[in-house]
Amino acid sequence: MTPVLPFIKKQILAEQFVDSPEHFQVYTERQLDKIEALSQLSKDQLFEMKVVASVLPFRVNKYVIDHLINWRDIPNDPIFQLVFPQKGMLSQDDFEQMTTVLRSSNDRSAVLEKANEIRQRLNPHPAEQQSLNVPYEDEEPIEGIQHKYRETVLFFPSQGQVCHSFCSFCFRWAQFIGDKNLRFSNKEAQKLHSYLSKHKNISDLLITGGDPMVMKTDHMVSYLEPLLKPELDHVQTIRIGTKSLSFWPQRYVNDVDSDQLLALLERMVRAGKHIAIMAHFNHWREMSTPIVHEAIRRLRESGVVIRTQSPLLNHINNDPDVWAFMWREQVRQGLVPYYMFVERDTGARRYFEVPLARAWQVYREALKRVSGLGRTVRGPSMSTGPGKIEIQGVTVINGEKVFVLRFLQARNPDWAQRPFFAQFDPQATWLDQLKPAFGDEKFFFQAEYDAMQKKQISPRVY
Ligand SMILES: *Cc1c(COP(=O)(O)O)cnc(C)c1O
Repeated sequence: MTPVLPFIKKQILAEQFVDSPEHFQVYTERQLDKIEALSQLSKDQLFEMKVVASVLPFRVNKYVIDHLINWRDIPNDPIFQLVFPQKGMLSQDDFEQMTTVLRSSNDRSAVLEKANEIRQRLNPHPAEQQSLNVPYEDEEPIEGIQHKYRETVLFFPSQGQVCHSFCSFCFRWAQFIGDKNLRFSNKEAQKLHSYLSKHKNISDLLITGGDPMVMKTDHMVSYLEPLLKPELDHVQTIRIGTKSLSFWPQRYVNDVDSDQLLALLERMVRAGKHIAIMAHFNHWREMSTPIVHEAIRRLRESGVVIRTQSPLLNHINNDPDVWAFMWREQVRQGLVPYYMFVERDTGARRYFEVPLARAWQVYREALKRVSGLGRTVRGPSMSTGPGKIEIQGVTVINGEKVFVLRFLQARNPDWAQRPFFAQFDPQATWLDQLKPAFGDEKFFFQAEYDAMQKKQISPRVY
């Protein structure tokens, strides 16, 4: 029986927000002690958080603490899990090593040294992001740009390389721990625009971070407005990847430059660009406050399209009902569900990952519970080095139980949409644990991908 899902009552009280704008207040690792709500935790629990927060990035703001977390249900509350460090995010061994360092010295450099050692074990550069995605011009890497799939360029504006709060599962975690080598950023809009104008097959620009919506509107203007020049007519869609609707919906309602931001988006839409807000929502709770309803209403009024995406995460949304409810709520508020991702092979994956077989089951069960308008989600999808690989299902072919897979996006565009098969493995959580089915030695793309990695052929074969 399909359960009947309740609704979130939609409330919009615009005046309330204008009269009393909320002050943005943020807490980082060093201010853990200052978060009043945490006083209900024991000393040991607080110390555990400190251990994890000295390795993985931590940042939370007061809106999240006051409005999104149900403090009567911690530690199980999904939003608490989403932003606060948990012991299981580190291996037991790493956890103990860091505990020893923290207990035995007040020396910040010893803590940092241990932290860096542990971070190196957490695969900070997943999917060959740095080695294969950064384009070159005159043998120089163009900083702040990644170009992996033919149609779409990622841009990391330097002012947008932080977030209003950090997600504990974030695959970009390494950018937030102060290691400049790991940071993608770009000081100059001009380099971006010059790259785009030279590559006419780019139809989509994806502005990402961090969170570009932490930028002042003035900066956003300098990145977006030049895209209206005739030589950039081929860049039809501008996507902005953001978690701001969850973590700081005030951005669109009563920040000092909210109105200017909405006016900018509206100008871009009127000039003929498709502006897509790629909103990260991991749980329907993030869509339940009056101010997020108002933010969504105002954004949609500007003419942008809001699409949504999230990884499937143990402890947060490993439940088809949570997804079905979230997608229904998104459709109701006029949003388009777009991607369900598999938790990536980096950072705190040990804590959040679920087997691929389970991911497919959650996807299927959730999809079954929503109408066609909620079935626009693709996934569950693994963002791997060779491309985005979707788990299409589990079936038996000639007596062999297999995963049916396909690329949604691929480094070589010609790999996309071809079904391929892996031996079924109930425990596997990532591509590197899968073996080709039917006795094949390699997946069909492997030899070509190996050659790209060895730079025998270009990673951009298009
Ligand atoms: C997901 C992704 C894109 C966008 O892919 P779409 O299928 O067009 O949404 C672009 N670049 C990279 C590196 C990505 O991971």
